[in-house]
Amino acid sequence: MTTIEKVKVNVQSLYNQLWDDWYVDLGVEKSPLVVEQGDHAPGYLDGSIYLFFDGYDLDAASEPNQHDPVAEVRFMPSWQRDLIHEMMHEYQDKVSRFSAPSKVGEALFAKYAKRFGGRGHDAWFFSAIAKHAAYFQVKPEEFVLEL
Ligand SMILES: [Zn+2]
Repeated sequence: MTTIEKVKVNVQSLYNQLWDDWYVDLGVEKSPLVVEQGDHAPGYLDGSIYLFFDGYDLDAASEPNQHDPVAEVRFMPSWQRDLIHEMMHEYQDKVSRFSAPSKVGEALFAKYAKRFGGRGHDAWFFSAIAKHAAYFQVKPEEFVLEL
């Protein structure tokens, strides 16, 4: 396998693991993962998650043994941070936005709205973060700081 193919295996594996835990019985579909070489910013666009790898990141992310973010959400390599950030946008889009934002999500949005550049970092995005913090065994506010 080429290096980028090994990276794709690692990204898809972590995505599947998290997704299967988070979307049980919700009746929505997994997003396609677009994993390519390049130095573009990651994103969630039209239902797909985009991640780009270059240089050192590409080599490190191709190694078979990767950090386990579920066991320790701090010290994630940047690709895991990017994947989980974009998965928060996926959850925002597929689940959170169909009801009112949570109280914790509203409070996080009020405090951290300026932390992330670009569009889409609204109270529903922060509601998705609030929802998943416990999965990583941290407080919502701590989880924001890892993304
Ligand atoms: Zn974002």
